Amino acid sequence: MSKQLKFETLAIQSTQTSDTVTGAVTTPINLSTTFKREVDGSYKSGYVYTRIENPNRRLLEDSLTLLEKGTVGFAFSSGMAAITALFNTLKLGDHLLLPHDVYYSTKAMAEDLFGTKGIEISTVVMSDLKAVKKAIRKNTAIVWLETPSNPQLNVSDIAKISKLAHKVGAICAVDNTWPSPVLQRPIEYGADVVMHSTAKYLGGHSDVLGGCLVLKDKGKLAEEIKSIQTLTGGVPSPFECWLVTRGIKTLHLRVMQQTKNAAKLARFLEKHPKIERVNYPGLKSHPHHKIAKKQMKEGFGAMLSVQVKGNAKNAMKLTGRLKLFTTATSLGGVGSLVEHRKSIEGTDSPTPDNLLRVSVGLENVGDLILDWEQALG
Ligand SMILES: *Cc1c(COP(=O)(O)O)cnc(C)c1O
Repeated sequence: MSKQLKFETLAIQSTQTSDTVTGAVTTPINLSTTFKREVDGSYKSGYVYTRIENPNRRLLEDSLTLLEKGTVGFAFSSGMAAITALFNTLKLGDHLLLPHDVYYSTKAMAEDLFGTKGIEISTVVMSDLKAVKKAIRKNTAIVWLETPSNPQLNVSDIAKISKLAHKVGAICAVDNTWPSPVLQRPIEYGADVVMHSTAKYLGGHSDVLGGCLVLKDKGKLAEEIKSIQTLTGGVPSPFECWLVTRGIKTLHLRVMQQTKNAAKLARFLEKHPKIERVNYPGLKSHPHHKIAKKQMKEGFGAMLSVQVKGNAKNAMKLTGRLKLFTTATSLGGVGSLVEHRKSIEGTDSPTPDNLLRVSVGLENVGDLILDWEQALG
């Protein structure tokens, strides 16, 4: 498909197949787990067994690859399965560098599964380039970024950190779940791997779990990941792939509108006397606004977090007074959500006690602002 086409067109074109038998204009869901073998031992379609490959998964993987400007992509049953697959390429004695405020399950998984098996793991304030420079070691194999970070919305410089990683032969991998490929395409800034929890903006309706890795280059790492994907089998079902490809069709429209809503809500909350601080990279007051502007050209996303005046209890109470924001974990769906993160992440998390994470949906933004106004009182 032509790479000249714009994102919205690519999103529609790359998620549909034309069915030559029936003429169906939407992609059929191929539930078959196994595919017919010829007498000579070959497979006409190239498909063998669904753990290895499936038409719905291939369509999704190719679409994600195109949207992220990569060359090859792999779909997984969850975002965590995707991250685990990448970390599974680490060898004994390798070093993994994580942001200090990385998504808490990423850190927990890395420490529990890999830290105990001879992989060195350390964390750094990824938005501080000097600190990153110092934290990269000779044996660093993966520098993991999450930008903007969950839930503090810190922004790290993909281009500069990729360069630092490459100097020691490490790869730079970016969790791009929050901005989605609509707002940020890390490969364009030098990253080697992009990861998504497709359960969030790509799926978009809080009804499908999934994850993916998209790679800048085909080659040894891609072969290793393909092998891990098919041998460990953490793959999405054909129906789940179908749901994500369906989500991709409206991704641009949703993300742009949700971003507009989030920016308006952030500006309202920033001025409210009962709010101590709003973490949103689109605000001029955000400490990393400049870097965000450089690598998120079309907008700053639909996620924000607020620190309310007071303690954890005050913050928790506020979630109960909001009527249009469901108190629940996860993000990226069409319905607005709010969550007190510290009580989920535990006492050793660096998240402030008074922080609420907000996933802004597609409701009317005036309604959303009024809801915060009444809840803050
Ligand atoms: C949700 C999320 C993940 C984990 O993805 P799952 O699909 O829940 O396994 C990883 N990183 C970020 C930033 C997320 O928001």
